[in-house]
Amino acid sequence: KIQMMPNTSSIKAESPHIVFFPSPGMGHLTPFLRLAAMLASRNCSITLIATQTTVCPADFSEISSFFSSHPEIKRLEFQINQRNTSNSTTDDPFINQFEIINCSVQLLPPLLSSLPQPVSAIFSDFVVAASLTQIAADLGIPHYIVSTTSARCYSTIAYLPVLMSETPAKFSGSSRDIEIPGLAPLPKSIIPPSWLDDLPSNHLLTAYLIPNARSLPKVKGILLNSFNWFEPETIAALMDGRVLSNLPPVFPVGPLQPYKLKNGHHIPWLDDQPAESVVYVSFGSRTAMSNDQIREIGIGLEQSGFAFLWVLKSSKVDENETRELQELLGDSFLESTKKKGMVVRGLVNQEAILAHSAIGGFVNHCEWDSVMEAARQGVPMLAWPQHGDQKMSSEVIENAGLGMWAKDWGWGGESLVKGKEIGERVRELMGNGILRVKAKKVGEEARKAYEFGGSSEKVLMGITEMLKQKD
Ligand code: UDP
Ligand code: UDP
Repeated sequence: KIQMMPNTSSIKAESPHIVFFPSPGMGHLTPFLRLAAMLASRNCSITLIATQTTVCPADFSEISSFFSSHPEIKRLEFQINQRNTSNSTTDDPFINQFEIINCSVQLLPPLLSSLPQPVSAIFSDFVVAASLTQIAADLGIPHYIVSTTSARCYSTIAYLPVLMSETPAKFSGSSRDIEIPGLAPLPKSIIPPSWLDDLPSNHLLTAYLIPNARSLPKVKGILLNSFNWFEPETIAALMDGRVLSNLPPVFPVGPLQPYKLKNGHHIPWLDDQPAESVVYVSFGSRTAMSNDQIREIGIGLEQSGFAFLWVLKSSKVDENETRELQELLGDSFLESTKKKGMVVRGLVNQEAILAHSAIGGFVNHCEWDSVMEAARQGVPMLAWPQHGDQKMSSEVIENAGLGMWAKDWGWGGESLVKGKEIGERVRELMGNGILRVKAKKVGEEARKAYEFGGSSEKVLMGITEMLKQKD
């Protein structure tokens, strides 16, 4: 079923037509919406596939508000077959949804062929790389991937098939650093724990990461949400083909620009706080902490003495968020921190918060979109990686000077981090003048990447030119 938006008249013949195929979850969806809006404003004609999924109710409102603010972008409704769930091999709701989408990808060709304008390229997520490369090749459509992680993590994933075929035991068994050509050695301790589980039953690796990584040589290019200055060595190694000579070219186009500063959820309390005085604490849209850890964070924030804005999640899926603040934190905490801090439930407008002059630091899990947003605003981070590739991102922010990483806290849930320690680190983050200067420098470089002649601006213009020629 194709739903055309009313405004389709002004498509210029020479403008490339790009179909965006994002995957569910804010961390996956957000970079797609941003890049779609950026290319639409650079004279590309854009169709965005809106997949009906069940995992992320927040996606729906994000997608609808995106389309209402971008009437020039066409919406292609994609009904996936939820019944495929019965064959699923995982109980992780996100991986499960990725699987269902992969099983439904064969429904795409008739939809794509029925579009009124020929498709110049399809931009998909890595999670559908393997199933989509063949379909795109059959249709004669160049297929690009929009990477939702750091260049560091992308390059590691791209190299995984080699690591696994040559040295599977070395990969999971040994404690030594992992060597990847052209890149700094990867400490074993920062590899996502879920990659290291025993192979035969490691569904994430065997059914998802490796097959998609194997298909990368068939992809036309990888758009990276990172910029040359931020990850110079890794990006250079990928560009020179030093990691693997058969990988597609990478196009560093980050930090992707917000497509609008969303209005909702304005927090007037912030306006009353002095410049750089508030620590913003959030662990994204999918990470829930244990009740004990939540209480310790509360104690830590109170002891830090700094004003705080804390987005509190006690459940991974927002719909299940039932516990009350009183129950989680206790009345006395809420009473004693009433003037000093704000505890918020649900989603906030993070871009607007990070852009606010009152924010002086950001305690975060270092999921990649958050990193790029902090980089754009030059806000120093205290990295507390919880799972997945977040230690790799923490390494990146440390090297770039954007933040400090509480290495001894380990992964989320690995041990209970005490309030006293949290309070000390928060004080260190907020009081570290050198870090603040370095983080500002990151912000400047991020802005330069998108000035006239900036590295990411040039790459993005190059892509539109390249796709025009394919027309
Ligand atoms: N986000 C937001 N408000 C929230 C949490 C997240 O606007 O309360 C946005 C955030 O700015 C980012 C995206 O959601 O653009 C995804 O966040 P990220 O990748 O950092 O973490 P995840 O939510 O995937 O763990
Ligand atoms: N996970 C999560 N929030 C995230 C990322 C992952 O709750 O933002 C969960 C994920 O669903 C799985 C576990 O953490 O249950 C391990 O995640 P993984 O190492 O696979 O990281 P990912 O590749 O999903 O970032």
